[in-house]
Amino acid sequence: MTPYKKVKSDRIFMGRLGFGCDLLEGLTKVCTEQNIILGRVEAIGAVKSARIGFYNQQSRAYEHLSLDCPLEITKLTGNVSLKEGAPFVHAHVTLANNKGECFGGHLVPGTTVFACEFILEVYDGANLERKFDNETGLFLWS
Ligand code: ZN
Repeated sequence: MTPYKKVKSDRIFMGRLGFGCDLLEGLTKVCTEQNIILGRVEAIGAVKSARIGFYNQQSRAYEHLSLDCPLEITKLTGNVSLKEGAPFVHAHVTLANNKGECFGGHLVPGTTVFACEFILEVYDGANLERKFDNETGLFLWS
């Protein structure tokens, strides 16, 4: 089974996250405030430090990488859907250091914003809810 649904663009928010806020929590807060339960997110900017995850498919657990240095957000892309009845932002980031070297992964709490400009596109017409998936150990759209 391939779960997918037709959606249409409803609204778009553009904005900036505050200095010092948590990148993932800041994006989630906007979704919660605006009751966004389906959508797409992208962002660029810079962070003071970062924490990203890599899903180990063998152990079925996230391994985390902490980067304690200033980095550019060269790309943040992700989606918004429902998990356990609340808006859930699933985002991946690519971050560059002062040599242009990049790190990337699954965004988790623990990334501190220096400056961040985001675009949140809200979709309408369907709900996608994350449920635990036995094959992967992840919460996937069912
Ligand atoms: Zn991910």
